[in-house]
Amino acid sequence: MRALVLHGPDDVRLEEAPVPEPGPGEVVLRVTRALTCATDAKMLRQGTHPALPAPPAPFGHEACGVVAAVGPGVATVREGDAVVVANSAPCGDCPPCLRGRPSLCEDITYLSGAYAEYLRVPARITGRNMLPLPEGLRPELAAMVEPLACAVRGIERVEAGAGDEVVVLGGGVQGTLITGLLAGRGCRVTLCDPHPSRRDRGLRFGATAAMNAPRDPAAIAAVRDAHGGGRGPDAVVEAVGRPEAWEAAVAIARPGGEVLLYGGCAPGTTVTLPTFPLHYGELSVRGTYHHTPAAVRGALELLHAGGAPFGALLGAEVTLDEVPAILRGGSGDKRPVRMD
Ligand SMILES: [Zn+2]
Ligand SMILES: [Zn+2]
Repeated sequence: MRALVLHGPDDVRLEEAPVPEPGPGEVVLRVTRALTCATDAKMLRQGTHPALPAPPAPFGHEACGVVAAVGPGVATVREGDAVVVANSAPCGDCPPCLRGRPSLCEDITYLSGAYAEYLRVPARITGRNMLPLPEGLRPELAAMVEPLACAVRGIERVEAGAGDEVVVLGGGVQGTLITGLLAGRGCRVTLCDPHPSRRDRGLRFGATAAMNAPRDPAAIAAVRDAHGGGRGPDAVVEAVGRPEAWEAAVAIARPGGEVLLYGGCAPGTTVTLPTFPLHYGELSVRGTYHHTPAAVRGALELLHAGGAPFGALLGAEVTLDEVPAILRGGSGDKRPVRMD
């Protein structure tokens, strides 16, 4: 089969590889569609990922496929079943899992190898996070289950509800998904992004307003002043992943409001926060990471229900050999990847 293999920083190669064989509890999928992801673009720049095998390593983590072979002990799916997989599964046994916080699992199993004609799915993901492709859902939309599950998990940590004002910083794929989910909850969402096309897309996902990205103190104050009668919005979700945006998020929220720090920043980065709004303003500041099996199921239901124009996040389809150039181009639209 043909597979993209990650060899190191900016070194990914399209190679011939043996079709994987499923071990106990595993399945092998014939990949119908994979999706590119900003995480893969970052992995290509860095040449590896701390949570994944050292290079040369299989590459890609968002996929939809048809079961081509099942290993011993697999009873949940059969050859020929169309399925979608999440990119990980928690162990279920470690202290965070037992406390009901599977996104913090200390022994999480990750998936990699979606950029290939065939993908071996580890037993734990087969058992916990492989779901039947819902009737009528296009494979490239179903493959969005992982990014959407992260957004579903993220907004579980936001209390703002119907009628509340929420500012979302960042109109990339994640900020747009979060905008759609919060709008679906009845929040009045203002999406902030420097690109007019992304602001327009946010409005199509249900934002009630869109503003430029606030990148200096005057612009940050203007976003705050535009909400809550000048006090600031009830909640701010940061979906940029830069320390200065984290700091802006805290500066924009109203006293008593909440801040969700969603975007992952580069390793080793730090932020400086003013103590007064945190203390006298009783701000609630939370982080969020990854997703949970419940969020994966919720995300697939949302994709099937089609409550938001999810397809607007997908660019034109590409073939496997075009993926490296797409990833080097940075984090634009998600691109469905065809294997034939
Ligand atoms: Zn992803
Ligand atoms: Zn665990």
